[in-house]
Amino acid sequence: MTIGIEDFKKLIQGFEKPLLTPKEANGLTYSIIELLMKDNCTVELLKLLSRYLSKSAYENIIEERIIGHWCGYPICNIQNDKIRDEVKFNKIAEKFALKSYYSTRYCCKDHYLKSEFYRRQLSEDALFMRIELDKQWFSEGSIENDIRVLE
Ligand SMILES: [Zn+2]
Repeated sequence: MTIGIEDFKKLIQGFEKPLLTPKEANGLTYSIIELLMKDNCTVELLKLLSRYLSKSAYENIIEERIIGHWCGYPICNIQNDKIRDEVKFNKIAEKFALKSYYSTRYCCKDHYLKSEFYRRQLSEDALFMRIELDKQWFSEGSIENDIRVLE
């Protein structure tokens, strides 16, 4: 099933406030991770989620998807046994074994690159530190308007 903006509207109910407490923010982050751990989403939703996701929250989505053998890129719906949560080898080995790094997390190099492209645009700020969360989606000056998703 492909998750879209309409599905997210249901999930965000009760969180439509300018600011969230740390507890609310954690709850919402967890719900987003749960939403995308088994299903893929539309490009539009991935853009919108940049308003709510930090880099580390996005990394958690990737990790959860990998556990279920889903390609780490949330746009993709490929499930493959080659995708698995490998024991993390040390950083230097990882650097020299980049091919193995992405091929155990993504269905193809293209999706690894697209996922990285998206991740790098995300803010490091925790969700509870963000303001104007209730601003209209895709309105002028909103975070998601500046996000590019490679298609
Ligand atoms: Zn993929």
